[in-house]
Amino acid sequence: MFQRRARLFTILGFEVKVDISWLILAVLITWTLARGLFPYYYKNLPAATYWWMGIAGTLGLFLAIVFHELSHSLVARKHGLPMKGITLFIFGGVAEMSDEPPTPKAELRMAIAGPLASIALGLFFFLIRVLGKNAGWPVTVVGVVSYLAVINFILAGFNLLPAFPLDGGRVLRAILWQWKNNIRWATRVSSRIGSGFGMLLIFLGAFRFIFGDFIGGAWMFLIGMFLRGASRMSYRQVLMRKALEGEKVARFMNDNPVTVEPSITLEELVNDYIYRHHFKMYPVVENGKVLGCVTTKQIKEISREEWANRRVGEMLEGCSNENSISPDTDAVKALTVMSKSRNSRLMVVEGDRLVGIITLKDLLGFLSVKLDLEGEEGEAAGLIGASGG
Ligand SMILES: [Zn+2]
Repeated sequence: MFQRRARLFTILGFEVKVDISWLILAVLITWTLARGLFPYYYKNLPAATYWWMGIAGTLGLFLAIVFHELSHSLVARKHGLPMKGITLFIFGGVAEMSDEPPTPKAELRMAIAGPLASIALGLFFFLIRVLGKNAGWPVTVVGVVSYLAVINFILAGFNLLPAFPLDGGRVLRAILWQWKNNIRWATRVSSRIGSGFGMLLIFLGAFRFIFGDFIGGAWMFLIGMFLRGASRMSYRQVLMRKALEGEKVARFMNDNPVTVEPSITLEELVNDYIYRHHFKMYPVVENGKVLGCVTTKQIKEISREEWANRRVGEMLEGCSNENSISPDTDAVKALTVMSKSRNSRLMVVEGDRLVGIITLKDLLGFLSVKLDLEGEEGEAAGLIGASGG
């Protein structure tokens, strides 16, 4: 869900991206507005008018979500947290935070900024609506403005549910964190509540579905699933960050990795390396210099008859920040790179020299043992289950 994004524009230094799933949502919302909501409240308008109102309403909602996320991002930046950008996907927006907030107070301010911004925007549209109605604006304009007032209040209300990782859950976590000075405990409690809310929505959704409200029920069910998954994942992320805090890549890497020469053929690579070691990626090294890597994915794209004629050197992939990392980087960063690039093995490179390989398996092995020792057995098992390989 997080791979297919389009960049839209940059505002105040934040890149705004949209996931393809948001486009599906946008079509659904436009359709619901044009065929359901607007015809219900504003009768006897031409069909085309309802569609224009629907499009305007959806665009307004899009900007309202960007405004909400932008407020989070601005406060985060003020507290020195690097923010990568804003991505809109099917359940709203996500301000991409690359780290945990430094203090409970910072978290509280960051979390509350979004809902406050939405409430302010809702009040603004409400005011416009009152003024417009008095000034005799066309019913179409007043209709869209009323919708935008209401949807901003709904946005604020939903996000204020005390269910981590929603904003309200973050506020709750900040308060608990401040109280006991333990971010892990605070995250566990608030993410359990988040998970509970998720279950509640799943049950209510299923209930509505059974009793005939198919679309409303299905949405509720999906939002519940999303919330439940997100709350558990957020807790695991905190656990991982805490467990790997201060650890460098060098500590986990294998410093004697299997490498290949650029001159061997694909046939040799497959028979002598892949079938023997079963790795998916091999660094290509010549005279002590790392040239890049070759992966099973690349080989799959070449037809079998060609394997004997093609050499590894012709098709290697140069080192990039998707397939390599430096030994003094934080191990947490390695996990982030792995999950983003879907590479479970990264070359550890210093200058043009290969110093080792770091694998997801080794990182997760360490995490699972460490969390197990700290009494988080269930979470440790979850990590391994989520890794896939
Ligand atoms: Zn928010």
